[in-house]
Amino acid sequence: MSELDLSPDVLVVGGGIAGALAAVRAKEKGARVILVHRPGGGTAASSGALDCGDELYGLTPGPGVDALDRGGRWRRGVELLAARQPRHPFSRVGDKGRERLREALALCKQVAQRGGLELVERDDGQNHLVATQLGTVKRAALVQKSQQLDLAALEPDATVAIVDPLDLANFGARPVAHLLGFIASMSARKVTFTTLGVERALPSNALAGSTVHDDALAMARALDDEGKRAAFCEALRNALRRAARPAHHLLMPPILGVDKHVAVVNDIERAVGRPVKELLALPPSAPGARLARALLKGAKERGVVVVEGAARAANVQGRRVASVTVEGQQLTAELTPRSVVLASGRFLSGGVVRDQVAREPLFSLPVTADGRPLDDGFIGLFTGEVPEAEHAIFRAGVAVDANLAPIDRRGAALFENLVCAGSVVEGWDPARDGAAGGVAALTGLLAGEGAALIAGFSRSGPVARAG
Ligand SMILES: Cc1cc2nc3c(=O)[nH]c(=O)nc-3n(C[C@H](O)[C@H](O)[C@H](O)COP(=O)(O)OP(=O)(O)OC[C@H]3O[C@@H](n4cnc5c(N)ncnc54)[C@H](O)[C@@H]3O)c2cc1C
Repeated sequence: MSELDLSPDVLVVGGGIAGALAAVRAKEKGARVILVHRPGGGTAASSGALDCGDELYGLTPGPGVDALDRGGRWRRGVELLAARQPRHPFSRVGDKGRERLREALALCKQVAQRGGLELVERDDGQNHLVATQLGTVKRAALVQKSQQLDLAALEPDATVAIVDPLDLANFGARPVAHLLGFIASMSARKVTFTTLGVERALPSNALAGSTVHDDALAMARALDDEGKRAAFCEALRNALRRAARPAHHLLMPPILGVDKHVAVVNDIERAVGRPVKELLALPPSAPGARLARALLKGAKERGVVVVEGAARAANVQGRRVASVTVEGQQLTAELTPRSVVLASGRFLSGGVVRDQVAREPLFSLPVTADGRPLDDGFIGLFTGEVPEAEHAIFRAGVAVDANLAPIDRRGAALFENLVCAGSVVEGWDPARDGAAGGVAALTGLLAGEGAALIAGFSRSGPVARAG
């Protein structure tokens, strides 16, 4: 680490979807980029798919909405969000910004691919309709290839078997199949969901007091091991041999590896002689961990310098970030970047905290929800009256202008050389808008370009540098 460039053009704080794409975009513009990344956060916890816009989000299936309807193009969902929610980043960045969403998704696909993970998008601009580990269905613009069992594209009378490995605790294929069957019963499509039990195959972890893997991520990590994978493949083959009724499709819990994902999928598919797909994950999530890992690996391959560690303190002079102190396992360094992208996520990631006063901890930026500062106010002022109500607190973050620069209460930019991206930005609810990964990707792309421009790199290459 001694060769670390202490004066990069752009420093990116956070390595989720937003940070990784911001870093790659700034690098593409010619900037020297350092990304400092502390593990964890939204991307790693996520289902591993990226939603951009869903015009049917929250609608109850009925005469007007088929339960397995994929809806129109995700683009329409994006426009609806922007029109309905003026503080939403899709609205903030304006028509021109939103037009770049497809480009942001393409960049996300390329970076993930470089990192060894294939993300797929439909050619017709519509969402995939995929099943989750909860037994629900959701629409997503980009899914991992291993998640691509599109329920709206299945052949008539298809049977889908939910695989139920006894090696995995806390997952019940039966309730998942029941719920999906119930959803399918409200659709004109005739899809049947069954289960396929798989005998114990993996060595137990008796020393830790556990005889099975407690969650899908633990089992996915176990399957990264070639020997364990071979044993599981054998058990799966046996289960298929014994199955009374052959299914057209196999849907696994989200256990298809993390570090050795491609080998896991290949080996299992070879063993059973057909494609195998997986459900969208709940945390702790193997597909989320896979996505986070692939984006960072892809960013490194594209020439971004990735430092495992944390940005601990910032030195601010007037309206400029003068330096940021970064602490990693092997170094502590004070970096003096020309510009900074803050892509540190929200409460889950530590990008926003609320101890006494709600704040963004690195630059002490104010945190607002629906334009109101949280400060040390009573949290009940930012929640709805019933659980299913809208809760402003879930839209809390750093307020930004159209250039993604953080702003004060009067709307004036607080810094000349700081831009924000992803869920640290306020005005949107990642869990509710049906657009989370799309917002992170788009704001990441735009913030990376903005930071490169501030650092003196224009569309066509280096320009006279800002002082
Ligand atoms: C359980 C769950 C399920 C989800 N499912 C979906 C889904 O199905 N589809 C979808 O589109 N979206 C989903 N999302 C939302 C989506 O994952 C997030 O909106 C998106 O990943 C946000 O990306 P980000 O880069 O802004 O932030 P994050 O991914 O949170 O990245 C921020 C990173 O910054 C790091 N960090 C923070 N502070 C510092 C510091 N000082 N120094 C260095 N690093 C720092 C954090 O550790 C973290 O790694 C889900 C989220 C969760 C939590």
